[in-house]
Amino acid sequence: MQQCTDRRMNNFKDATNCLHAGYEPKKGEPRMLPIIQSTTFKYDDSDQMGRLFDLEEDGYFYSRLANPTADAVAAKICALEGGVAAMLTSSGQAANFFAMFNICNAGDHIVSAATIYGGTSNLLTVTMKKMGIDVTLVDPDASYEELCKAMRPNTKLVFGETISNPSLVVLDIEKFAKLAHDHGVPLIVDNTFATPINCKPFQFGADIVTHSTTKYMDGHAAQVGGAIVDSGNFDWMAHGDKFPGMTTPDESYHGIVYAEKFGKAGYITKATAQLMRDLGSTPAPMNAFLLNMGLESLPLRMAAHCSNALKVAQYLKNNEHVAWISYPGLEGDKYYETAQKYMPKGTCGVVVFGLKGGRETCIKFMDNLKLGSIVTHVADAKTCVLHPASHTHRQLNDEQLVEAGVSPDLIRFSVGIEDAGDIIADIEQALAIATAE
Ligand code: PLP
Repeated sequence: MQQCTDRRMNNFKDATNCLHAGYEPKKGEPRMLPIIQSTTFKYDDSDQMGRLFDLEEDGYFYSRLANPTADAVAAKICALEGGVAAMLTSSGQAANFFAMFNICNAGDHIVSAATIYGGTSNLLTVTMKKMGIDVTLVDPDASYEELCKAMRPNTKLVFGETISNPSLVVLDIEKFAKLAHDHGVPLIVDNTFATPINCKPFQFGADIVTHSTTKYMDGHAAQVGGAIVDSGNFDWMAHGDKFPGMTTPDESYHGIVYAEKFGKAGYITKATAQLMRDLGSTPAPMNAFLLNMGLESLPLRMAAHCSNALKVAQYLKNNEHVAWISYPGLEGDKYYETAQKYMPKGTCGVVVFGLKGGRETCIKFMDNLKLGSIVTHVADAKTCVLHPASHTHRQLNDEQLVEAGVSPDLIRFSVGIEDAGDIIADIEQALAIATAE
């Protein structure tokens, strides 16, 4: 767990924070973020250790709960999102699960945009359902009034993705924040595709942000990781009846009331103290180090991804073999205006499209790419491609696929930061083979 208390960083811009936030070496200390590859931390007497266990004192005692390397990187992401506290997790899946389970119990209910990553959809509709937590998936484009109908007295949070994977629906964050707040619950936004470089959901009313840091934040496909950041804006005490875990004593920590004792850091402290303690899912220090390396160049890479993706989208839009294309950074796209409002600097590097020959032509096209590789990955420095209906979303039935905005011919083309001309030439040659009579 890391509270973003590094005052030095508060006035810096993203590019500076990407390099400097979270770790400030003192005299004679390593310039590079050290990898603290240690499960344990030594103390002088048992009383000191006891105070750590009681959460009476700040400090490290066991890396399943918190580790200095991971915390430094969490503080960097916290600064980028403009939050008050953050934590890293071992994957994006763990981040979304912890973010929700931290404030939900059996018998509770979640409202989520239907257009979300297949793994998150599975987490909600299968695994969390087994735990007694119900979900209603809503059309993110529905009117505020329609969305209100999904809310129940036991709803504990609203969830959505800034730019959905893979349908590239841009979430109207303000509409979803109003929905959540009018019903006394927080809005959790998965900001993986936009990254804080292109969108800062807290500025539009989101309360908690999650990330699969596996994607652009890392950028080099080197580690699997996740992050949770709290804005500190949601008033748990004002909605104490809904969130007893935050506002009533935790007997497993000698009666601590998280929202009272830790104030704005209460939510992240609870997730660390209870969920990391009981479920693990902590990132390896080496993975946190690799993530930190990726973060250093994030602003440069995001600008290059967006510029290349726009060129690819423009090329595809004018190609006779392309049945349809969706890219929120492309003028005329259904979500262009919403993207301009929430992400004026750019959206992401992912472009989705279908080919006129349907599913078979799409697969033939992918199989013939030479530069773009077929991998279970997205948002990487290297161009990669995937067919969600056959891969990431294959567990969904046809109806669920439509609900998630995934048509059977949808190709998810993750534009990398190679030379844009080379990427387009690769698409051109693969299209020529896929569409040859
Ligand atoms: N959220 C989004 C938007 C994703 O795209 C993914 C993975 O693709 C996840 C969460 C899950 O992240 P991870 O694969 O790091 O567990």
